[in-house]
Amino acid sequence: MRAEGIATVRRILCVFPRYTSSFGTFEYAYPLTDGVQAFMPPQGLLLIAAYLPANWPVRFIDENIRPATAEDFQWAEVVLVSGMHIQRQQMNDICRRAHAFDLAVAIGGPSVSACPDYYPAFDYLHVGELGDATDELIARLARDPARPAQQVLLKTAERVAMTEFPIPAYELAEVKKYFLGSIQYSSGCPYQCEFCDIPGLYGRNPRLKSPQQIVAELDRLLECGVTGSVYFVDDNFIGNRKAALDLLPHLVEWQKKTGYVMRLACEATLNIAKRPEILEKMREAFFVTIFCGIETPDPDALKAMQKDHNMMVPILEGVRTINSYGMEVVSGIIMGLDTDKPETGDALLAFVDESRIPLLTINLLQALPQTPLWDRLARANRLIDDDSRDSNVDFLLPYDQVVNSWKKCMEVAFAPERLYARYQHQVDYTYANRLKVPVTPEQKSWANIRRGLIMLRNIFWKIGVLGDYRKVFWKFALPRLRHGDIEGLISVAMIAHHLIMFARLASVGHHNASNYSIRLREASVPAE
Ligand code: SF4
Repeated sequence: MRAEGIATVRRILCVFPRYTSSFGTFEYAYPLTDGVQAFMPPQGLLLIAAYLPANWPVRFIDENIRPATAEDFQWAEVVLVSGMHIQRQQMNDICRRAHAFDLAVAIGGPSVSACPDYYPAFDYLHVGELGDATDELIARLARDPARPAQQVLLKTAERVAMTEFPIPAYELAEVKKYFLGSIQYSSGCPYQCEFCDIPGLYGRNPRLKSPQQIVAELDRLLECGVTGSVYFVDDNFIGNRKAALDLLPHLVEWQKKTGYVMRLACEATLNIAKRPEILEKMREAFFVTIFCGIETPDPDALKAMQKDHNMMVPILEGVRTINSYGMEVVSGIIMGLDTDKPETGDALLAFVDESRIPLLTINLLQALPQTPLWDRLARANRLIDDDSRDSNVDFLLPYDQVVNSWKKCMEVAFAPERLYARYQHQVDYTYANRLKVPVTPEQKSWANIRRGLIMLRNIFWKIGVLGDYRKVFWKFALPRLRHGDIEGLISVAMIAHHLIMFARLASVGHHNASNYSIRLREASVPAE
């Protein structure tokens, strides 16, 4: 579905802001690839681009790939921007640059929907999801593309059903320059973890696309050149378990038909481990990774943050169960909780060793607006607005103690020997359980072989020859090479390199201790 009945033509420039450096965007892996420059195509902005009237020319610029130029701004009549809190400074910077060309600028997406007052300079604020506010914005721009005299706030009251969503305009993005492909099946989550803004923003009753839409989107992604890994960005893939079970047979069929060209990944709550019928179908659909917000191995802390659903199975048992279906667990971890004690860091490192999870995003607690956590801390006068800090939370333990504990955890957890030992465990006990998929013509194509050779050359040279952890690398790599597992070697080496490099810098204070924190020293860095 698209906005219809608009005769006027407007030229729209969609600009996606640059990310601040973050653990979860894998930027240290990019130099090992054959030209990757950004993490994932942004769903929201590409969805809006697809929803605009069919006769409106749209240019899409991801500033993680290249900056919007003077020529782009001169071409446009209106600029659309979208992003998360972490991109706030960059979004305001895009607005400033667009205004230099006297263009009207509209902002939508999760950050402005939660905090409209973060964006005082924008001409239009689009709060909420695709819906009547979007239609109103399009109608106003059609009538008059000039900057309005004062800021206009448009709030979605009636949302467009996800079954009516158009396929995001993937064709506008340079998909081959992304580390992962992205796709969305559902929105919202039935749980209410204290720190999370998803239920407040998108509701507790997940909204869904149809399986047929997802199959059509996968076809489109493939046509656009996406192969490799595709990430379901749903807040919780099993937020509606029946819907997940409805979708999975379609994914299995699609993978069989296309020769398993895509490795799938998603986010889901750890209680998925109690659902063997879902896990089995996910294995058949070639899901290889699940991101689980484990948050903490401490049961008291889970209870305090209303994440009791993580205790439906013992955590380590849950991780092993998921691994037994060939899926690697990626885990979110939070430090700085009220329940943390001086020994929390050591307990966390013990958990990392026991769980054998290679990739954990370890962040300091950050209170997001419109969450129960924010409200509780505000009542207790424990929110701190100070850009020199790594978190806006006044921790119960001393701030320096919490930050130092985080730095130590990063340093130890991602020391090359420890990290590669965890990956070796995954090779033996997780990857070994994956579906054995046929070699596709696409994999045997010269373009794919060339891509693999470029990545291998980069990995061998930059890690195997020049790298200071080359001995650890070769200990892992040589058996992989003997088994002919080139793809497995490339994917582990790239991710591991990012984790090692990021953690090294983080442990000496060069990176934020919270993916959500926005520090002014990193403000407004347009893509070079
Ligand atoms: S389960 Fe995940 S998405 Fe759902 S409320 Fe908790 S943290 Fe948010």
